[in-house]
Amino acid sequence: MKNKTSMIVATKNKGKIKEIRYYLKDLKVDLFSLGDFRKLPEIIEDGLSFQDNSIKKARTVAKFFNKLSLADDSGLEVDLLNGMPGVFSSRYSGQHATDKSNRDKLLSDLSGAKNLNERSAKFVCHLVLWDPHKNLLFETDGICEGNIGFEEKGAGGFGYDCIFIPKGFNRTMAQLTEVEKNQISHRGKALKKFVCFLENNKYLV
Ligand code: IMP
Repeated sequence: MKNKTSMIVATKNKGKIKEIRYYLKDLKVDLFSLGDFRKLPEIIEDGLSFQDNSIKKARTVAKFFNKLSLADDSGLEVDLLNGMPGVFSSRYSGQHATDKSNRDKLLSDLSGAKNLNERSAKFVCHLVLWDPHKNLLFETDGICEGNIGFEEKGAGGFGYDCIFIPKGFNRTMAQLTEVEKNQISHRGKALKKFVCFLENNKYLV
């Protein structure tokens, strides 16, 4: 019997990995993440866009392991802050940032915005599939619009989820079920397009 193709998701972020696994569970691939390996390539995320960073992550990981690699670069763009934290989302509060310190900084930066409609924002995800021999195989993106709430609510998800209220909901992303988040999230939308691409090309399905 033919062995399954290996694909390495270029992240250690457990929240992302869980959401990616949800969409890719039926593919004919053995899915790994960077958390499965001891020796890792150095990836400095110094791109100016989600696209730059996702290509850099996917290409570096594909070349290092000589395997297919899928990378997601994502973050939160807040209109009142001219799109910040954007590509700096994971290190918004500095070098030793945690999800909590990033959320605290964001809530503090928005403390002057007293109405929810002044606190509009969107999550953005850029997704890239890189083949070590053929290079870029696929890229797409997904966005999820909403508003930044005034306090943390909910225990699901990760990152900024507990302060982000998606459009059409009166709950934060962290108060949605996993299935609800996956249906409407930036990453879920990008992953749906990715799976369609694979099905249309009869690749890994
Ligand atoms: P990356 O690993 O450089 O792509 O950083 C992504 C950062 O954006 C994460 O550390 C989170 O802070 C934030 N982020 C991305 N996607 C989500 C999400 O689905 N929910 C909450 N925060 C997210």
